[in-house]
Amino acid sequence: MFKPKAIYYEKDIENYELGKELLKKYEQTPKFLIESHNNIEEMRNKSNKEFLDMKRNLIIGIRKTHKFVENHKVSDYLVPYTSSGCTASCMYCYLVCNYNKCAYLRLFVNREQMLEKIIKTSEKSDRELTFEIGSNSDLILENTITDNLVWTIENFKNCRKGNLTFPTKFDMVDSILPLQHNGKIIIRISVNPEEIINKVEYGTSRLRGRIEAINKLKDADYKIGILIAPVIFVDNWKKLYHELIERLSCELSEKVKKDVFFEIIFMTYSYVHTKINEEAFPTSINLYDKNLMTGRGRGKYWYKSQLRDEGELFFRQELYKYFPQNKILYIV
Ligand code: SF4
Repeated sequence: MFKPKAIYYEKDIENYELGKELLKKYEQTPKFLIESHNNIEEMRNKSNKEFLDMKRNLIIGIRKTHKFVENHKVSDYLVPYTSSGCTASCMYCYLVCNYNKCAYLRLFVNREQMLEKIIKTSEKSDRELTFEIGSNSDLILENTITDNLVWTIENFKNCRKGNLTFPTKFDMVDSILPLQHNGKIIIRISVNPEEIINKVEYGTSRLRGRIEAINKLKDADYKIGILIAPVIFVDNWKKLYHELIERLSCELSEKVKKDVFFEIIFMTYSYVHTKINEEAFPTSINLYDKNLMTGRGRGKYWYKSQLRDEGELFFRQELYKYFPQNKILYIV
């Protein structure tokens, strides 16, 4: 259970039910008033070395930007939702776009306003839309602090149309198992080989827990996807990912295997990640490999195309061998 070191909050959260609840829940935790969750002077001045310590704080505010962004993978829209950032510290996390602003967990208490916009858009549409509500954070983790996922499912289940989806690297799913969800929630669990989880995905759930969570969620009739993401081309990647897919085929229930779908995403990295990680995790693995990666503009790197092609072929063959009936939505 996450115990924040300090709470930084906007005064107006006191006008929202969730804001009041959180202030009460963390009555004993030191608190500091801030003007805006987007600009906390004290955090901006911290050094990269203090990255992990900074993540022990909790920021609470009101989300002001509600712009839906079109998306054409699993969902129709990426929707800014109830949190941003995370308490875990995956070394490649794409939310570390700007270390002093995006990395720590920020909670937004105006959830009614955000869900209402989703429901209105969904019901107005002439087709079934899917909304990605977890692209800025991890909602299973956030739910352990706010119960927002329980609240969201309960308030979305009767929406006349549409689905919600989110990815997660956490296994704390028990509170959503008994909920009635009317098949409108698609949960995508992200997995990686145990060795990569241990060395790179600090603070997330172990592989065993994630596999158990998938089976439990499927037993509760949620729609399930598996993200093998991000694929990291470490020296023995073929062996590790082969073992992962073989293990999934052994340990996932028959019910899951019947219709689970896959998404495969190769890791992207950046100059900012390199700088933060070499100071915040000086003894950890270096994920930037100049022999395997190439620039893609604005300080970002991805794997060279030959390696990505080899990876794509490998995953198509392995998944065909162990999951011949299941769809691969995309490999990128
Ligand atoms: S769990 Fe997700 S949001 Fe949290 S640090 Fe890892 S990649 Fe980022």
